Amino acid sequence: MKVNYREFFMQKMLIMFKPEDIEMSAKDFISTYASYMDAVGIVGKGPDGYAIYPSKTAPVREQHVPFFEEWVRLTDALDINAVVGLDMYTDGWFARDPKYQTMNDRGIKMEHQICPNRPEFWQYGAEIVKEIGSYPIDEILLFGGGYIRDQFCFCDRCRKEFAPMVDQEPGRLTYQYISENQEYHEKWHKFRSEKVHQGLTYLQDAAVEADDATGREKPLRLSVEVLLDPETGLSEGAKNEYGYDYTRIGEITKNVLINLFPWSPDIPAKGTSEYSELVEALYFVNEFTRRGGRASLFRWGVTTLEQLQEIKALGKDVGIDRIVTTFHYPSDYSRRRESAIGNF
Ligand SMILES: [Zn+2]
Repeated sequence: MKVNYREFFMQKMLIMFKPEDIEMSAKDFISTYASYMDAVGIVGKGPDGYAIYPSKTAPVREQHVPFFEEWVRLTDALDINAVVGLDMYTDGWFARDPKYQTMNDRGIKMEHQICPNRPEFWQYGAEIVKEIGSYPIDEILLFGGGYIRDQFCFCDRCRKEFAPMVDQEPGRLTYQYISENQEYHEKWHKFRSEKVHQGLTYLQDAAVEADDATGREKPLRLSVEVLLDPETGLSEGAKNEYGYDYTRIGEITKNVLINLFPWSPDIPAKGTSEYSELVEALYFVNEFTRRGGRASLFRWGVTTLEQLQEIKALGKDVGIDRIVTTFHYPSDYSRRRESAIGNF
């Protein structure tokens, strides 16, 4: 793909890169574009579960380590706002162990996705936050921090913990049993939301520890990705589908990264009723920022300035001036999309 990076950087946006995106050394790239860059991002741990920095916790893609270290050293030296991406529950390597895979009530497992009800995995994520936070960076973007959707998770642990709350045997608990009863369904949402935010609290505590260890001037920001898609009910539906509570994210990390239409190809055009619905779905941002939080708009696979202008215009309409993008969709995108909006 031939991209005019300069044009993108001049738009004052944050681009998240993978080393594979860049066909030159970190030094050549950053020295070429430094004067146009306010901020720039690089992956730290991707959805395959591999780190590109020398992690003692996660497996490492050794060939990218020198790139990462040089990149971070230069962004620090040149005072460029440095952001690192971290995929949380989407972790193909950790999920090799079936014990950790999230599954639906028929035992269909998601091989790339960890059940969020796993304190030992929160610990794993927290170690990675501390490791990344030991570098002179400003922010971590935390991707994939929620459930796949409302039909998850029915792993042994989730069954055992939740079944007694709705007077059922763990082995006989089904999604239908839960969703047919409004009171049970609400308990389900609350139970799952609790797990998501407990996990986030672990990670935020780790970020604070990293601050203490490095003596960082400004606290390390942890921006939490939330998916906003018409397939899963925009922002309201997302609470129950993925387990988010925007107010609690505001309290825990203060930073939210709104992934626009991850499962839908196009953002609606201004003037359409779908556009108005989208703007309305983003009203929660007013309250979020009023309480001291910061919201960013995010979209995968933005490769043209027109696409970027569209997101910027939306941002203007909803009071968000920070735009974050990638040039590519995640490598495991089709599998993720399938598990997010497929029929269960
Ligand atoms: Zn589970």
